[in-house]
Amino acid sequence: MALSQDREGNEDVRIVNYFNKLLMELSCDLPVIIVGTTTSVDQLSFELQQNILHIINIDNPSLDERADAISWLCNLSHSTALKVAARTSGFILSDLTFLVSQTYSEKYKLMDENEKENVNNGIEFEDFVLVIDKMNSQFAGAIGAPQVPTVNWTDIGGHNEIKKEIVRSLNTADFGTGLRRSGILLWGPPGTGKTLLAKAVATECGSTFLSVKGPELLNMYVGQSEQNVRQVFERAREAAPCIIFFDELDSLAPNRGKSDSTGVMDRVVSQLLSEMDGLQKNEGVFVLGATNRPDLIDPALLRPGRLDKMLYVGPCEGTDAKLNVLKALTRKFKMNEVDLYKIADSLPRCLTGADLYSVCYNAWQNAARNVIRQMENSTPDSSRAVIVSADDFVAAVDNLALNS
Ligand code: ADP
Repeated sequence: MALSQDREGNEDVRIVNYFNKLLMELSCDLPVIIVGTTTSVDQLSFELQQNILHIINIDNPSLDERADAISWLCNLSHSTALKVAARTSGFILSDLTFLVSQTYSEKYKLMDENEKENVNNGIEFEDFVLVIDKMNSQFAGAIGAPQVPTVNWTDIGGHNEIKKEIVRSLNTADFGTGLRRSGILLWGPPGTGKTLLAKAVATECGSTFLSVKGPELLNMYVGQSEQNVRQVFERAREAAPCIIFFDELDSLAPNRGKSDSTGVMDRVVSQLLSEMDGLQKNEGVFVLGATNRPDLIDPALLRPGRLDKMLYVGPCEGTDAKLNVLKALTRKFKMNEVDLYKIADSLPRCLTGADLYSVCYNAWQNAARNVIRQMENSTPDSSRAVIVSADDFVAAVDNLALNS
């Protein structure tokens, strides 16, 4: 590509012609094979392309290829390498090399002198996870990096019908069986668990998860926003099976013709539509959108074959709904005689999952503060476990009432 373009990115006809001329003149007794590389064949000039006899497309490595590369780069058992590979969707060989070297160097820093001699044997899956998370958060620029979330159905309280409906759609639309549903739109007020649902879907289907906030893809440079949309789908296809989650979809796909005078948004919507139509080819990519304002979204996006199913994700109304969410949120808490039903009953009638999260988080913080206080005044044998009591919850509920 560099050969056919000048510094400003325009086609440099003189160089291409000269290169072609040299090729024609090339005659020697031994066969000569010319090998070139490029990241994008489409951007090569036509004159240059006509000299190419074979194009070999090198795709991103698959799960097995990544596992092989990892066990080749370091001394890992195949099963551990597979586990690491499963968390590195979208990584290319240079990323894997960097991952291995970073993991070694992080591990090395933590070792004492005796262990350092055996660093090759001491490396484990958990050491990789820390570095993968760091790398993913660094990659996650405008278009995000595919990640493997760790949210399970059990982390979500309630929303049972929505879960069932999504799974039903995935079982028919996805990954192999033929019938097409490319996506689902989740809509409802903020904090009701739309993102959480999308992550759990990705975990439960063993897919990678590409989370993109609509406004992050928009760029002031001409053509860049469309390019970003294209890139998101490209990344998803590379990391397939993959779920793309478009948060705040209304900002990315507003009604065409009404949004702006420059037509930028119209082009972004058109790009999104054509990418969604491309998903018909069953490449293992499923789209979940989320919005608070479905009325602002271009109706073309909601037609069959695109985001043709809309599911309402609402706040929790009634004691039982709140109880389900409280149970999910306190699953990992150590609690002392806490009656969650009573707490759910004492809360305002209608609350979002995020409100309930703040109640649980505050209750846990109250308990943690108590433990710290005890340790400060303390007897050496006082317990350090954070055990949340009913009083901690009552204080957290009062706090919520004060702030609302
Ligand atoms: P949204 O995407 O609808 O704005 P999120 O999924 O980001 O909302 O939810 C915000 C936080 O609220 C989550 O991280 C989670 O802790 C909590 N939450 C919301 N709904 C639920 C639920 N049904 N069960 C458990 N936690 C929930």
